Amino acid sequence: MQEQVQLLEKYFGYQQFRPGQEAAISSTIKHQNTLAIMPTGGGKSICYQIPGLSMNGTSIIISPLISLMKDQVDALEALGISATYINSSITTQEQNKRLYGMQSGKYDFVYVAPERFESDFFIQAIKRTYLSLIAFDEAHCISQWGHDFRPSYRSIIPNITRLPHIPVLMALTATATKEVIRDIQQLLHISDEHTVHTGFERKNLSFHLIKGKNKQDYIRSYLKEHQDESGIIYAATRKQVDSIYELLQKAGYSVSKYHAGLSEQERQEEQMSFIHDKTTIMVATNAFGMGIDKSNVRYVIHYAMPMNIESYYQEAGRAGRDGESSDCILLYSPQDVQLQKFLIEQSDMEEEAQQKEYKKLQSMTNYCHTHSCLNRYILDYFQSEQDNASHTCDRCSNCTERKEKLNITEEAQMILSCVKRLEERFGVSITSKVLKGSKDKKIMGFRLQKLSTYGIMAKYTEKQITEQIHFLIAENLLSIEEGKFPLLKLNKNSVEVLKGTRKVTMFSSPIPTSETVDYN
Ligand code: ADP
Repeated sequence: MQEQVQLLEKYFGYQQFRPGQEAAISSTIKHQNTLAIMPTGGGKSICYQIPGLSMNGTSIIISPLISLMKDQVDALEALGISATYINSSITTQEQNKRLYGMQSGKYDFVYVAPERFESDFFIQAIKRTYLSLIAFDEAHCISQWGHDFRPSYRSIIPNITRLPHIPVLMALTATATKEVIRDIQQLLHISDEHTVHTGFERKNLSFHLIKGKNKQDYIRSYLKEHQDESGIIYAATRKQVDSIYELLQKAGYSVSKYHAGLSEQERQEEQMSFIHDKTTIMVATNAFGMGIDKSNVRYVIHYAMPMNIESYYQEAGRAGRDGESSDCILLYSPQDVQLQKFLIEQSDMEEEAQQKEYKKLQSMTNYCHTHSCLNRYILDYFQSEQDNASHTCDRCSNCTERKEKLNITEEAQMILSCVKRLEERFGVSITSKVLKGSKDKKIMGFRLQKLSTYGIMAKYTEKQITEQIHFLIAENLLSIEEGKFPLLKLNKNSVEVLKGTRKVTMFSSPIPTSETVDYN
């Protein structure tokens, strides 16, 4: 590895490798297909750049977003490394010129989008190129269980096996569940031995969950205290982006926006202004950010809850790439769940895939209701053995803002008995209405006012009851079926609570007051 350390110093000016880099590099240069799973900002690029520089031949880097290829190529060229990109943003004539250059061995690195492999012309060109390495950046896109599946990624594999000289393959990702890791390993023939997993934890990030507050007021007061810091605000829709953008502009902030409704050129300009610190705030949909290397983002605020934990962690993870302390704030309201359900319902996904999405959405919703460490919750979601299983972060809002601990065993028993009396045939909304003793027509229609649990929690508001039900779900003391109309089901933990062998405590937390709750 002596030579690789020298390359690190010569080209990048760094003295030593970061955790995982050395293992990933040494496996790759031994011509073993290698998977590197490292958190955002962990230094994945160097994992393929150093082997690329060490080996004879050209390295192809497959990346799903063409918007960042130019930056990556510029950065390499600035270090004196020959690199180019071939994608639809350049003319066919220029593409052909670069392809000829590639065949003659002119470049050490060629960046392409996965769709390139669907072109016969490109396949012919790489057959004539001496390739050392093919790296799959954002490799989770290869798996249909990943949150951003790109079918074109899969079509690459048969093409690689037909090459006259098979290059070593490398896959890199920051967000992969166990299932996705297995999928990548199988598709690219990577063994456990050549899988480098440094864990996902980002110790400089503090996760905060804000509920029951007016979102715009929250943003205004947060920004007042973080005036000159660079940050991203993610909104769920273009309309939301436009209105937050206007709000901030009127308040005198220097702000950019980004969504699919803007022209390619506008998006480029907005992105560049933000990346080069001409503006301090970026308001965007999730169309913004994949692969964006802006190191000084001090906060990422989600104006609405994303569809799953993978997307949340990836988007929130754009904060603090420089290792400095940064905030990841999610502003939750129950309507966010409705919106995401609607999006899943409207999608043209097959039934099975839709069920999976509902399941992931439930995990995301549980994140917004758990009273445990938020950081821990995310790491547990990825079931990563590399991240110390027991420890809590002492940074997130649940760890730091713990208030009074309340014994809610009795309330939990009332809720669980009600689920039982309802024969597990209803969801959160009806159950809380029954417990409240609501005269809603649905309740009367089903004659649920006859139940013995009707009105037994009348002293609470319906919102408080709903909050407690969601807390029980998040803590796995009650189950919820996944689907469009999720039904509440008792599980073995519920039975323990009902029998009185398990105590339930919850930290008193602000109860939502400003939004209506309707889950079903
Ligand atoms: P990732 O793709 O994993 O999110 P990058 O490859 O963009 O991360 O690297 C993040 C930052 O860390 C970059 O600025 C990079 O130059 C820096 N970096 C990478 N490796 C090292 C290292 N060994 N020592 C110091 N800084 C490093």
